[in-house]
Amino acid sequence: MSSAGAVASALNWLNLSTPCALLLARARGCTLSPGPGGIIIAEGWTGRLPIAGAFTVGSVVFLRGPRSRAGTALLAHEARHSLQYAACLGLPFLPLYFAAAAWSVLRTGDPASLNPFERHAGLADGGYRQRPVRSLRSAAAAVIRRR
Ligand SMILES: [Zn+2]
Repeated sequence: MSSAGAVASALNWLNLSTPCALLLARARGCTLSPGPGGIIIAEGWTGRLPIAGAFTVGSVVFLRGPRSRAGTALLAHEARHSLQYAACLGLPFLPLYFAAAAWSVLRTGDPASLNPFERHAGLADGGYRQRPVRSLRSAAAAVIRRR
């Protein structure tokens, strides 16, 4: 395990994000196993949200499918999210992440392209494509058209 991963793992235990995630994993019947970079893999997530095939809470990476289908790039991407949880002191990561995702949706139409958390974790590793940035004027027009 990298030293950054070890520190993030310890901090995410202390800030209680990892214990919360383990309770969630247990409540949903996920199978737990150790992963690279200090993460814990929780296979078998069946919740409707999020839509993603993988997501991270604290140092726990939830997978919808079997671990064998999650590539090393995706696990590295999710491990970077665990570092972000530690940097945000745990669960405050979530509102910051969702605000960043909303900004990205407004400017690009997708939640990752301008989301600094996803960009730091690696867009390609997470399975995202960089979308072109649209002006605030055309973003506002798109929002108005949807209504
Ligand atoms: Zn991500």
